[in-house]
Amino acid sequence: MEGALTARDRVGIQDFVLLDTHTSETAFLGNLKKRFSEDLIYTYIGTLLVSVNPYKELDIYSKKQMDIYMGVNFFELPPHIYALADNAYHTMMAEANNHFILISGESGAGKTEASKKILQYYAVSCPSTTLLDSVRDRMLVSNPVLEAFGNAKTLKNDNSSRFGKYMDIQFDIQGDAVGGHILSYLLEKSRVVHQNHGERNFHIFYQLVEGGEEDLLHQLGLESNCQHYSYLVQDECANVTSINDKNDWKTVRNALSVIDFDESDIQHLFGIIASVLHLGNVQFEADSKGYATLNKNTELRWVSTLLGINVQVLQEGLTYRKIEAKTDEVLSPFTVDHAIYARNALAKAIYGRTFTWLVNKINDSMENKEPSRKTVIGLLDIYGFEVFYVNSFEQFCINYCNEKLQQLFIQLTLKSEQEEYEAEGIGWEPVQFFNNKIICDLVEEKHRGIISVLDEECLRPGEATDFTFLEKLEEKMGSHPHFITHKLSDKKIRKTLDRGDFRLLHYAGEVTYGVVGFIDKNNDMLYRNIKYVSLLLWSIIHVYLTDKLQFKSSLLGLTDILMSKEPWYVRCLKSNESKQPGRFDDVLVRHQVKYLGLMEHLRVRRAGFAYRRRYELFLQRYKPLCPATWPHWRGVAAEGVEVLVQHLGYLPDEYKMGRTKIFIRHPRTLFATEDAFEVC
Ligand code: ADP
Ligand code: MG
Repeated sequence: MEGALTARDRVGIQDFVLLDTHTSETAFLGNLKKRFSEDLIYTYIGTLLVSVNPYKELDIYSKKQMDIYMGVNFFELPPHIYALADNAYHTMMAEANNHFILISGESGAGKTEASKKILQYYAVSCPSTTLLDSVRDRMLVSNPVLEAFGNAKTLKNDNSSRFGKYMDIQFDIQGDAVGGHILSYLLEKSRVVHQNHGERNFHIFYQLVEGGEEDLLHQLGLESNCQHYSYLVQDECANVTSINDKNDWKTVRNALSVIDFDESDIQHLFGIIASVLHLGNVQFEADSKGYATLNKNTELRWVSTLLGINVQVLQEGLTYRKIEAKTDEVLSPFTVDHAIYARNALAKAIYGRTFTWLVNKINDSMENKEPSRKTVIGLLDIYGFEVFYVNSFEQFCINYCNEKLQQLFIQLTLKSEQEEYEAEGIGWEPVQFFNNKIICDLVEEKHRGIISVLDEECLRPGEATDFTFLEKLEEKMGSHPHFITHKLSDKKIRKTLDRGDFRLLHYAGEVTYGVVGFIDKNNDMLYRNIKYVSLLLWSIIHVYLTDKLQFKSSLLGLTDILMSKEPWYVRCLKSNESKQPGRFDDVLVRHQVKYLGLMEHLRVRRAGFAYRRRYELFLQRYKPLCPATWPHWRGVAAEGVEVLVQHLGYLPDEYKMGRTKIFIRHPRTLFATEDAFEVC
């Protein structure tokens, strides 16, 4: 066993903490690169897993590999995502508590793939009874379904998740995976009606149009040609070599039947998806007074048929605003621009609610109704930090979300680790790290943060514009070190900013946001009669949840969920920007290592203790290993632990006794104990 614990693969160092003296960034990168060149994409920093995207299929995810990792001590085998999954699982079983695995990294770094691998590991390798197999199948097929509706090709990733996903996997006392629950966050609805250059709409549209059976397309009034739909060809990139829409369609259709969708659900679902495509083709013309009219309403008739809603109501909804006067209702006609806005708003609302409905259906199918006690492992795969050429409200939300996750990481690891040593009275040299609280405050602080300013502006309809919002920001943020605008900057920087921009210095780098659309998107509110139309719609198709974009409160909720569980971390790194196998871009990786705080994490880990347990728990578990503590230790738990570890021959440097816990420096010390325990 000692051989395995020298923690060397054939190449490189597999755990940065355990070996050698170098802690420099260059050595760190050198090691990652060396390993990457040998297809060793995983490396540990203690129990944190670093993963570098190989952009090619590796033969390390077979059932055989899963079996190898099952129930084996963490550091005995080469680093693997299965080892982390297995360790979380066994800790959960031994301690009967809840865990979560936080997967982070920028867009395209491999987060979603990592979360799928973990889910597969649990589904395949946990004990099973036939009764429960169906729950597992459902958990597994929920992925392709959600990806079809929630993922899209972007410039960064051909299969980019455009929503955040938190999934609880529930286990019973025997360790069987017995149920699951998904929370989705911040679906990027604007993509339904608009895509940036080189990007696509959500996969499902292309799958339906390219792969849908002739009968089905006929029923839905669709043509089997993406070029026909204006929501799909804004950027003429309907076909992507890495994506096979026809095959994916079959996968999704099969998956839907596994998760209990009956024929009528499926009819509804694709009826709605088709209605969005038809809606996108509804065109308006200006009449002699400049008001919007529909010259040809074939498309609208399809929308009306598919959604079961009166065509007249729909038409009025798209071309008139209803104004409630004291006793009366007055119809005020829209201009063409307004009508297009209303049409797009309706399309986004339809899609957004359908997504929510889909998540609810999937949750129903994975729900475990047994009242028995369960523990959970949560998986958080949320979209990563994003910087495009043009950044808007969506990127602002995404990057804020990442900022919060970074804050959580700091709280749960760097900060809490150091606070714990202090509280336990363990001698400790603090490690400096950048705390991004200042940026979180800039965005979210009550009455002063960017979100508050935006919300306030949204309360002044008719008066506020994106530009008054920007002015308010300039007034309030003024000299904040992480905030800058054209007006507030000096000559040199001013050249790099437009008048309608503000720039935030995020923990991961600078991002310039264009304010156009912020007010609208934050409102996410339809014109009143469109709201009426959509209400009617929902009563018809039984969509029962609203999902107004409340990203702030939904994020706070997420933080609470995570704080109550034991964390595990997977940090995904992007090896290169061109999605090529075998290329390791030093500059790009170095940047990620920096902003993910990996060096700080390493320093805390190296100086610290890999393992700690409350005296009572430690004694309870290992007391059979020592005659003086077995079967009962009659004194204070801490003293019992001292007797126990003396008996086991722990060296003074290997552990420290805190106020309530024992701290053990190297995992290998504990493994030796654990092995002795298993033998006994
Ligand atoms: P993210 O969710 O972080 O945006 P993804 O998980 O979707 O990124 O990964 C982007 C692409 O990178 C995948 O579609 C796949 O081609 C490749 N990839 C990611 N992780 C792996 C892996 N472990 N092995 C092989 N390819 C991977
Ligand atoms: Mg993803």
